[in-house]
Amino acid sequence: MTTSFRVTYATLSADNEELHTAYETGAARVREQLGFDVAAPGDDEAGEAVEVRSPADPSVVVCRVRPASPAAVDRAVAAAKAAFPAWAATPWQERLEVLRRCADAISEASDELAALMTVEVGKNRLEALGDVEESAVFFRYYSDVMAENQGYEVAMDTLSEREQTRSVLKPHGVWGVISPFNFPAALAAGPTAAALVAGNTVVVKPSLQGSATAWRLHQVLTGAGLPEGVLQLVPGGDEAGRALVASPDVAGLTFTGSYEAGMQVLRAGGSSWPRPVIAEMGGKNPTVVTASADLDAAADGVSRSAFGFSGQKCSACSRVYVDARVHDDFVTRLVERAGAVAVGDPLERTTYLGPVIDAAAVERFRDAVAQARRRGAVVAGGDVLTGDALPGHYVAPTVVTGLPADDPLLGTELFLPFVAVVPVSSLDEAIGLANDTVFGLTAGFFSGDDDEVEEFLRRIEAGVVYVNRPAGATTGAWPGIQPFGGWKGSGSSGKAGGGRYYLGLFMREQSQTVVQR
Ligand code: GLU
Repeated sequence: MTTSFRVTYATLSADNEELHTAYETGAARVREQLGFDVAAPGDDEAGEAVEVRSPADPSVVVCRVRPASPAAVDRAVAAAKAAFPAWAATPWQERLEVLRRCADAISEASDELAALMTVEVGKNRLEALGDVEESAVFFRYYSDVMAENQGYEVAMDTLSEREQTRSVLKPHGVWGVISPFNFPAALAAGPTAAALVAGNTVVVKPSLQGSATAWRLHQVLTGAGLPEGVLQLVPGGDEAGRALVASPDVAGLTFTGSYEAGMQVLRAGGSSWPRPVIAEMGGKNPTVVTASADLDAAADGVSRSAFGFSGQKCSACSRVYVDARVHDDFVTRLVERAGAVAVGDPLERTTYLGPVIDAAAVERFRDAVAQARRRGAVVAGGDVLTGDALPGHYVAPTVVTGLPADDPLLGTELFLPFVAVVPVSSLDEAIGLANDTVFGLTAGFFSGDDDEVEEFLRRIEAGVVYVNRPAGATTGAWPGIQPFGGWKGSGSSGKAGGGRYYLGLFMREQSQTVVQR
């Protein structure tokens, strides 16, 4: 039984009953299918099956992954390479027809895809539905950008009437997409959509911990009419990722994940010529709150960005620099919000905060809390949560104060619902501290003073910046609205996903001068 409800951005609202019914129907269907196999087709040399278990209840096996062998990765790349000439030669208008069908297919499957994502990575229902719908929007948005640019063929100036020159942007070939667990649909779909719109073919290697969602998404996309070979998926962990990066036939790569892994991909060889690598890496995202700020709005924004999806977003807010005069007031408000967060089974309608991804994340949490207790104070949370209702990897939303400004906890990305608040004596000091990091992904600002806003916008070193946004101080970018990409150690390209310039990264320019005979 399928539902007729179609999820779109406009319908993504907590009080939309149809949305909840569709999601719950999707969840019931997902429960029947759990434990399915994920493997590259015909991969006799695949590794031992790895069970992906739900972080909300590790007794639940979501899927069994046979990690792709290097030979299977090579076969997928070869198939994508064979499909490339025809896909690249397909008029862009026709490619867009197929890719818009892909977008619709994702929206139509969103109840089931989102429920599967909830079970697999613990993302709450609204955020999971948002992740899936964002995936569809990426296909629509890049298609629109291509159409607005009429296929990127532009007449250039000419020095003589007999000579005509055109600038044409063309695809590279096979594109490798290495995607993370935290947006298991959107961050596989975004680069895939851009690469396909541009005329490349794609091999996706999703995070092992997001394999089930990426696999189902892949089935939805290939079922929507993509020609044979144009999109491939190779499941597995680091070994499959390394084989993809090492392949001489991979002409371009996108990577989303940690700083360390991203730098490895950037440094890795593989191709015999320089190839584009678009790396989106971590963040240690600051929010600055001045004395003129609306402190309730600031506490709302920071709480949503620090605790949403358990802080497991590159965009999460993990450091807050607050004018010392309002520090205590702000902390009181933030602590109130941390205490009010509904923690529980992410499949439940009322849950805001589900589990963290695995036992290693819980250990990281214990260690960070112990360090915070030694060098500062834990003023909210700090506990690992257990009990019959919480059989998975649950930790409490945590607020820390009193750390020295150069504390390692303020420099290291934790990927946990853990935020530190630091008092500052001036805006100058706050911006200095906010910028004093290898990262530069997102940043938030709360102020009631236009001059302060102007100074912040002039000096802050981050790719995505929000001012006075209670809905999310540093999180919640949407394609076509907030282009999302990092500066400094947070990203390699200087162009942001979901923005107007991103598609160009997936193409290379050819200038074509033709002299009339
Ligand atoms: N686009 C997401 C946001 O703005 C973040 C993506 C990520 O964490 O990588 O919150």
